[in-house]
Amino acid sequence: MKQINVIGAGLAGCEAAFAIANKGIKVNLYEMKPNKKTPAHKNDNFAELVCSNSLKASRVDSAAGLLKEEMRQFSSLCLQAADSCSVAAGGALAVDRELFAQYITEKIKNHPNITVINKVVNEIPTDLITVIATGPLTDGVLAENISKLCEGGSLSFYDAAAPIVTKESLDFSKVFYGARYGKGGDDYINCPMNKEEYTVFYNELINAESAPIHEFDKQPNVYEGCMPIEILAKRGEDSIRFGPLKPVGLRDPRTDHRPWAVVQLRAENREGTLYNLVGFQTNLKFPEQKRVFSLIPGLENAEFMRFGVMHRNSFINSPQILGQDLSLKANPNIFFAGQLSGVEGYMESAASGIIAGLNAVARLNETDPVILPKFTMIGALLGYITDESVSNFQPMGANFGIIPELLPHIRDKRERYMALSQRSLSWFKEKEF
Ligand SMILES: Cc1cc2nc3c(=O)[nH]c(=O)nc-3n(C[C@H](O)[C@H](O)[C@H](O)COP(=O)(O)OP(=O)(O)OC[C@H]3O[C@@H](n4cnc5c(N)ncnc54)[C@H](O)[C@@H]3O)c2cc1C
Repeated sequence: MKQINVIGAGLAGCEAAFAIANKGIKVNLYEMKPNKKTPAHKNDNFAELVCSNSLKASRVDSAAGLLKEEMRQFSSLCLQAADSCSVAAGGALAVDRELFAQYITEKIKNHPNITVINKVVNEIPTDLITVIATGPLTDGVLAENISKLCEGGSLSFYDAAAPIVTKESLDFSKVFYGARYGKGGDDYINCPMNKEEYTVFYNELINAESAPIHEFDKQPNVYEGCMPIEILAKRGEDSIRFGPLKPVGLRDPRTDHRPWAVVQLRAENREGTLYNLVGFQTNLKFPEQKRVFSLIPGLENAEFMRFGVMHRNSFINSPQILGQDLSLKANPNIFFAGQLSGVEGYMESAASGIIAGLNAVARLNETDPVILPKFTMIGALLGYITDESVSNFQPMGANFGIIPELLPHIRDKRERYMALSQRSLSWFKEKEF
């Protein structure tokens, strides 16, 4: 009998199990609830939305909307559930989280090909092809075993991540390319500040409002290098000017002087369309991030593709250890999906679950894997997390910055996003999954 294991009945695990089962293959779905819950999970149902109840924008000319539209091409279980219990949320798809989880749990439990096994999994099964989808709060012993499987240090923990902005939204009349002491050519985009600008920025930063921290995140493993910028700043007025904002080795070509402070931006992707704010890991509330970081010269109109976040998050170093089909290079019978595989967000986790599930089936049946082209949102996202050239890997959510540009360039952003969406969706029209 053909059989596949899926571990974790969260968003990714449920999609993986559903996709596999719908291909006529038996699934053993392991879930530790209700015996044990992560500190963020509160109810006994599967696919629990642990925080917001929004699945983000619906508009097809938005990154989140395109992602969902692509997932519909795969008959996504999460989107079936969402459509059945959506609540009014303007342009977003928001759901009644109880009904959402209930719908998915029932579909999974009643599927003739799925057997649910309520148990805390500690060891990674070796008997069958297995999809691991235990999420960012993967429970104890299993987390250690995944770490070992991924060659020791490959399972990363981070406490705070820096925001990401689009390059096209920067004001190039203020910023300049360069690296400290000329080492590294044009590797950084530098935002120079004079003393006055720095003082204003500094005062707003130390007085900005932080997001609440979950109980379970209160003793995080904070590395000095991951210290939120606002905490570092509170150590003294010059602390960040001698840290991430140090101006040494840099000369502003417009003034031919060394600025008082410099915020450096580093490319986030190979195409150079996205940049992160170096050293700006933060736990400030999202509107505060926008307000305070927009005071940085050149970032006045910055478009934030991801805000900084702070919570425990386990993810594997996918660019180095996963193949494009989401299987482990060192053991192709083991697949990873969900937030643990380095995607960020509810729907991103669910989408990766669908693909990991289909690829587990492909491995079992010895057929070609499902690897979507990079001009689709899912293809771009999974391409990003398995791109070996990505260094200092941090989880990534759906955004248009990771999709290859359309040529010729369309200046109007809405029109450009619509064209990118249409390019993807017309490709799907020809396919059947
Ligand atoms: C505190 C927090 C808040 C978040 N808020 C948002 C948000 O608002 N919006 C957003 O888009 N994303 C958010 N995320 C990120 C992410 O989208 C979610 O974590 C998402 O649920 C990830 O889906 P998943 O399927 O990978 O993992 P999960 O949904 O966490 O599912 C993993 C499942 O595996 C089970 N499990 C874990 N360990 C074991 C084990 N050893 N044995 C058996 N079962 C196990 C768990 O019980 C769980 O059911 C948040 C993450 C965290 C940690």
